[in-house]
This record gives sequence, C-alpha cells and structure tokens, in this order.
Amino acid sequence: MIDTKTQPASSGISALKAFTGQRGPTIAGPDLVNPAMIRHWCAAMGERNPVYTDAQMAQGSVFAGIIAPPAMLQVWVMPGYGVAPPSEDPVAKFHAVANAQGYTSIVATNCEQEYLRPLRLGDKVHVTKVIESVSDEKKTALGTGVFLTTRFEFTDQHGQMVAHMLHRVLKFRPGAVASAPAAPLAAPALRPRPNLTMDNAFYFEEAKQHRLMIQRCTGCGRLRHPPTAACAHCGALGWEAIESAGRGTLFSYTIVNAPVVPPFKPGYVVGVVELEEGVRVVAEIVDVDSAAVHIGMPLEVGFLHCDADLVLPVFRPRAELPVLMQVSERAIGYPGAGPTRMPPTVRPDQVQPGARLAPLEVPMTRSYIVASAMATRDYQDVHHDHELARQRGSEDIFLNILTSTGLVARFVSDAFGPNAQLRKLAIRLGATAYPGATLTMVGNVLRKTETESGCDVVVAVRGSVSRGDHVTGEVTLSLLASAGGQS
Ligand SMILES: [Zn+2]
Repeated sequence: MIDTKTQPASSGISALKAFTGQRGPTIAGPDLVNPAMIRHWCAAMGERNPVYTDAQMAQGSVFAGIIAPPAMLQVWVMPGYGVAPPSEDPVAKFHAVANAQGYTSIVATNCEQEYLRPLRLGDKVHVTKVIESVSDEKKTALGTGVFLTTRFEFTDQHGQMVAHMLHRVLKFRPGAVASAPAAPLAAPALRPRPNLTMDNAFYFEEAKQHRLMIQRCTGCGRLRHPPTAACAHCGALGWEAIESAGRGTLFSYTIVNAPVVPPFKPGYVVGVVELEEGVRVVAEIVDVDSAAVHIGMPLEVGFLHCDADLVLPVFRPRAELPVLMQVSERAIGYPGAGPTRMPPTVRPDQVQPGARLAPLEVPMTRSYIVASAMATRDYQDVHHDHELARQRGSEDIFLNILTSTGLVARFVSDAFGPNAQLRKLAIRLGATAYPGATLTMVGNVLRKTETESGCDVVVAVRGSVSRGDHVTGEVTLSLLASAGGQS
C-alpha cells in the first residue's frame, strides 16, 4: 500500500515502487467461456484446431470435449469497450500515478502464461492481479520509463487456480516520435532495387504474391533462370512463367562479411539454390546459423518483405515438422468450414530436438491489426486509432500482445496437431508490428523430455518483421504416446 505520509506523489519513482506487492480484488470475467468468443478468436488467429470449435471431433480427442484455446486465457477477463477497471485495481492505480508523473505511454514487453487445466465451455474465469515488481527508471529506445510486472492469478467458478501469467509493460514518457512529422525521423537504408526489365519484372511482381516463378520457353519447353529475352537452347522468343514448388537444395553459397552495406548485416548468406524443377536461383539464405550452412542442405522458399515496394524470394532450411492442422490454406480467417476430419497429432517418437516447424507468414494489414485487437477484446486506442497512437508516441497503430500470443500458439499448434496439450507460453516482444509488415514465424524443437505418458516438448519461436524480431519465446507442450499418431 502507498503510505501518503511517507511516500508523497512528488517522490517520483519511489511512489511507483511502493506499489510492489499490492494485491487487487478478485474480479469475474464478463462472460462464461463460450463458443462465439472462441470462434471469433480462432478466425483472427487463423487457428484451425477442431478441439476448440468442433464438438464431435473434440469429443474424440484427448480432451473429450471442446476446450478454449489456452492462449486465449487473458481474453476471458478483458473488461470490454468503455468499461473502467474497478477502483481497487492496483494496476489502474499504478497507471494513474505514473500518468501524473508524465509516464503516459505504455507498451507490453513480456508475457508468460502457464496453463494448469484446459478451460471448458461454461467455465467462469476470475482474475486477481498482484503487482510483482516495479523497476528503477530505465532509458529505452521508446523513451524513459519503468517496467511494471504484474502477476495474474486465474481461478474458476470453484475458486480453483486454472492458470497464471506474468505480464510486463514499459510505462514511459513518449520520445521524439509523437511530435515528429508523418515521415520517419531517419530514412532506413533500403535493399538495392532490382534492375527491372520486360523480361524479369514478372519474377518480382509474382514474389509480392508469394509465388516463385520460372521462365519456360514456349518453343522447346525448357525452363530457364535468370530470365532472358530468348531461349539459349532453341532461340525462340516466346516464353511463359510457371510456379515453382519452392523446394530445392543448396548448390553453392558465400557468407558475406565484408564489404557490408546497409541494410545488410555482416555474416549474411547468399546461396545458389538448385530447385527441384532443375534451374538454379540466387537468393539470400535466412534463418540459419552461418556455421550450419552446407552444400546439399534441403531448402524451401520464403518471401522477405524488405519494404513497401520490394518482396524477395529467400530460402531457409526445409521444415521437418509439416503443417498438420490444415493441408493447403494457412490464411488468417475462415475461408470456409474447418477440417472435415480430425487432423493427425505428432507422436513423441516423431519429434527430435532441432526439428524445424513449417514457417508461417501473416500479413499485418491495418484491418488485421484492428480485427485481431477486437477479437481479443483489447480496446486500447493504440491498436485501432492512428491519431491517438501517434499522440502516445507510436508511428502508427500496432499489433497487440494478445494477438502475438495467439499467433505463437497457433503456429505451434499447426505443427503438432490437435491432441498436443499446451502447457506454457513465454514471449518477449521486440520490434513493433505496424501495418504493412509481414510477420514471419519460424521455430524449432529446443528440448524433448520423456514423461510417463509421452513427452514434453519445448519449441523456440521467433516472429520477425523487416525491422527486427517482433516476438521471441518458448512454448511447452505435452504429447501423449497413445494419442492420435501421425498417419
Ligand atoms: Zn527453347
């Protein structure tokens, strides 16, 4: 508690630090765990796991009935639009004092969730917030501020603990961005532009649609790359473009340490990739430790959004854990019905440390950022109101942490299947995801621990945007030896 006699508001940081240990009242979430909110959330995350939405398939799963997506935890206790927190809420009181001291902006930086049991339809989730710690004043790239760490204790209608969460935010004085003109303060270095011609423009245009295209001679049918005006084999001028499957092996490579021009960073890898179709393509090799690069390594294509005008095909090590949850369409939203039969689940013997998950690319449109904020019941203005976001020191609206959390969980769920049980999720936020970015998620199995019933697996996840890592973290899940093996 704040003792106003010994801790006057004017004492600055000490008035904020005095909040440490404050425990708030236990507050009931506004809605029971219900199918409508689950469906909205799954659509926003692109989550296709039928144990969340399909009663029949969920009945046949290890959960024996529908469960709420574990990463949806905090959504159940979000107050909703225009609802003020209770006056005894220690976090709201902290923010009031911090605002008065000029720390008017806020950004979430960390979230760690542990799920003790799955939530089921009809559960009533309650939350108790405890202020775990308040840091000393720190200088950050966003401005000067303090880190507030809050422990959320989640209980059910019987008062039993169902989950807990540590949530850290930076409460800061907005820096120079708020008063700056609409243009960025310093123009970032851009990738060199390709030298576009009538013959090669298709390659870069199609890359924007995430298609890797190869020229094919209409005279003799041979494939060729790089694009040229005429066929070197038969001399024909006619050509068409076919889409490559995007798989290949590394034919040759170089690691560039010098000279390095921005925006390149020392140690980047440029490879000659031999595609399964037979032609060779020069491209950057990403998501690989340069020491692990080797000729012959299996690769698959990805698409790097360098800036608003340039998307380049890149290659990364091929995934050993394919997408199980949906065969073709990995899009966000529901293009139609969910899966028509229960997708397989990875068996413990099918998981090895180091195994890579199939990458996931999520375009950060303005609509997506707003829609996902709504689906997570997060009505903070920085996630939907451009003007207010700028006043609070941000360039633009940005993706909220509840969606980053949901996308991390969905990315892992896609690879392991419906009977994998999510136990823990811990993420750290870095580069902000603004409209126009593409969030590319990659991951690999970090550890595997045998258990009595199967194994626990820890997956390292990294979701990056062109300006850096947006989210990094670890997800822990349990796999049962007896449950729905991969066919
Ligand atoms: Zn030809």
